Amino acid sequence: MYDVLIVGTGPAGYTAAIYSARYNLDTIQIGEMPGGLISEAPEVCNYPGFESISGMELSNKMEEQTKELGVEVVYDEVIEIKGEDLDFKVKAKRDEYEAKKIILATGQERRRLGLDRENEFKGKGVSYCATCDAAFYDDKVVGVVGGGDAALASALLLSDHAEKVYILYRRDEFFRPEPIRVKEIEQRENIESVFEVNVENLVGEEKLEAVELDNSEKLEMDGLFIEIGSIPNSDLAEDLGINLTEEDYIITDEERRTNIPGVYGAGDVIDSPLKQGITAAGQGAEAASTAYEELKKEEVE
Ligand SMILES: Cc1cc2nc3c(=O)[nH]c(=O)nc-3n(C[C@H](O)[C@H](O)[C@H](O)COP(=O)(O)OP(=O)(O)OC[C@H]3O[C@@H](n4cnc5c(N)ncnc54)[C@H](O)[C@@H]3O)c2cc1C
Repeated sequence: MYDVLIVGTGPAGYTAAIYSARYNLDTIQIGEMPGGLISEAPEVCNYPGFESISGMELSNKMEEQTKELGVEVVYDEVIEIKGEDLDFKVKAKRDEYEAKKIILATGQERRRLGLDRENEFKGKGVSYCATCDAAFYDDKVVGVVGGGDAALASALLLSDHAEKVYILYRRDEFFRPEPIRVKEIEQRENIESVFEVNVENLVGEEKLEAVELDNSEKLEMDGLFIEIGSIPNSDLAEDLGINLTEEDYIITDEERRTNIPGVYGAGDVIDSPLKQGITAAGQGAEAASTAYEELKKEEVE
């Protein structure tokens, strides 16, 4: 019986594991693969302590530190969690485990457009994260696919860096935008909104050079930011009866408790506004700390 079982091997999961181990709790961490989404970042420049580091190297460092502290890190997919506080049964594809406390740090996946060369150009012009990558496009031409609030926020951020920003949206008006954002978009001279279009083809040799639209137009650009939403990995949480938002993000309190005693949430899978490595790490620390405090209290009782 482990004290703490963490699902997810991204920044939230590794940090939860590091804190849990340093609280002397018997800790196991299970994730589908080493590193989470951040491993996909070609260059991370906003994680304190590293001026510039590849996402893969940052993940490797987190994993090393976790293992050095004695955490058992297992690569497997968790398919079921049952039971109750202090007595959870966890089934992964290859093995089964028991734990007193569970931390869900399962992250989210970006929705993709599903275009032919989308994967090939990922990190070579195609991006799913303006906060992470905007600074690489100083004085360049970029496009943003999407028309929701997140897409507009990305377009505004990009317009601080890029020479020109196209917003490419399939509907004839933005989708439930904050009025102030629309006003700001209209005021920015370097943003052009193109409605009722879909991106059909990504064009380029080694990296993205242009996109072809379904109105037969071709727009030359260096970067295309795909902002058509994300899907949280919250199936395990849903099966446990954890309260989720309308978009299926886990609802936690400030100390990362869910409504199910003994289960905590951290990182991109929870309902929090800034989805970044550093915030995920912070929430992982909070979840482990709350689990520790509760275990300590339960032992005294
Ligand atoms: C291209 C790109 C660039 C980025 N650049 C930056 C950047 O520069 N700086 C920054 O701070 N952030 C960046 N981000 C955002 C950052 O990657 C995320 O905010 C961060 O990874 C969230 O951490 P997490 O631990 O919550 O989730 P994740 O990193 O997504 O980790 C969750 C892990 O849990 C695993 N998992 C899910 N379900 C299960 C299951 N049932 N069983 C086992 N394992 C499971 C997943 O496979 C995944 O490995 C970037 C994101 C992308 C896509």
